[in-house]
Amino acid sequence: QAKGNGKNTFRFYSQEVHEAADWRMKLEGDLRRGIEEGQLVLHYQPKYNIMTNTVTSAEALVRWNHPVYGMIPPNQFIGVAEETGLIVPLERWVIRQACEDMAGICQEGLGLCHVAVNLSQVHFHQEDLVDYIQQACEETGFSPSGLEIEVTESTMMNNQEVVVSKLCSLRELGIQVSMDDFGTGYSSLSSLKTLPINCLKIDRSFIQDVLQDESSEAIVSLIISMAEHLNLNVIAEGVETEQQVELLRQLECREVQGYFYSKPLPLEQLIAFLQRSAGAHSLAALLKEEGH
Ligand code: C2E
Ligand code: MG
Ligand code: MG
Ligand code: MG
Repeated sequence: QAKGNGKNTFRFYSQEVHEAADWRMKLEGDLRRGIEEGQLVLHYQPKYNIMTNTVTSAEALVRWNHPVYGMIPPNQFIGVAEETGLIVPLERWVIRQACEDMAGICQEGLGLCHVAVNLSQVHFHQEDLVDYIQQACEETGFSPSGLEIEVTESTMMNNQEVVVSKLCSLRELGIQVSMDDFGTGYSSLSSLKTLPINCLKIDRSFIQDVLQDESSEAIVSLIISMAEHLNLNVIAEGVETEQQVELLRQLECREVQGYFYSKPLPLEQLIAFLQRSAGAHSLAALLKEEGH
């Protein structure tokens, strides 16, 4: 009986694998075409300074507007893009588009001239990555000092040599570097002192239960004060409630990002958000002046 089961399991398994392989091949073909035919879309999630109530930056997050399946989130295609090398043309498009969009916003005088893009570890093995980014800034008229690269903690730790050398070159251009999903990887405390980074992004998982779980609060608090001592900026990801904002303010975390302030937005909605928040800011200032 055990044998029979094994056989059935095998047949089922091989059929599943077969389907999965077919699916991946279709996905790869679709994605290649999607990149070429302009089906990628960027949404922007504001980063917010909770001490000054200003938008400090926006993170570019890619989506794929598939002609049949509609808007597909990045977690469903970044993996395949990495395995097939399509991540390079994909992220080149992201970099270029983000620079172009933010150069426009900056010129509009909306009070924001800063954008962050995520880079995969695979892309760091591309020899001309730094040249490409420099060229994208030049061609779009976007200042490299307004560009920020987000690299996950595990990417940085698993590919130290190739990642660190390219990040150093990018920083020489004035580009900033953030360590994404911080707290989930394995950086040593001593590496934080020497890595070419400007900012720690505290992973959403810690923020999620910062109010319920004392050890999460302790970790968040520790990361914030460690960043302060190491002269790094720090931002909390995935902030969803006002109570979380209040606690983070008490812990002296200046920047947050999350659904509480805004979901990732299409470009036009980001612009509208900036207009509204600039309006709200001057309204608050006005009320204060009037002694309310
Ligand atoms: P990430 O860089 O850590 O981005 C944060 C993710 O958390 C985003 O998901 C964002 O929509 C989501 N998020 C933000 N605030 C909240 C919140 O308050 N609550 C909850 N539940 N979620 C929140 P998204 O856009 O689906 O992106 C997922 C991941 O895909 C990103 O994680 C990033 O690792 C990856 N990704 C997106 N674009 C690119 C890209 O151009 N290149 C690479 N390599 N990865 C990308
Ligand atoms: Mg990110
Ligand atoms: Mg993140
Ligand atoms: Mg994350």
